[in-house]
Amino acid sequence: MNCIFCKITNGEIPTNFHYEGERVIAFADLNPQAPTHLLLVPKSHYENAAELAKGDPNALVEIFSAAEQLAREFNLEGYRTVFNTGAAAGQSVFHAHLHLLGGRAFSWPPG
Ligand code: AMP
Repeated sequence: MNCIFCKITNGEIPTNFHYEGERVIAFADLNPQAPTHLLLVPKSHYENAAELAKGDPNALVEIFSAAEQLAREFNLEGYRTVFNTGAAAGQSVFHAHLHLLGGRAFSWPPG
């Protein structure tokens, strides 16, 4: 399988990890949409958040506790977390990942 996030999680593509735990890593998004834009990614391959919830719910728990820890480390006053699911919703990498965005004001509804 030619999955870019599998290559990052297994070290094939050297990447600076801001967090590494038992099941999850976090690294900076290549194309940041906010002053802080991190991706929290399970080490195991699941196509999207729902598949991850079915296959490894503990990874989802770790993703959200790591997001909270990172938000504190990056001094974010508030933050937005996003899972895009499906190309129609903007998913472009089909290995589940949580976007963690902060450091600017956010509007609602999102674009
Ligand atoms: P999504 O569109 O929700 O699937 O998000 C995929 C995200 O991965 C996008 O925000 C991309 O900028 C980001 N991305 C793609 N390739 C890399 C990479 N090699 N390193 C860091 N971020 C990446």
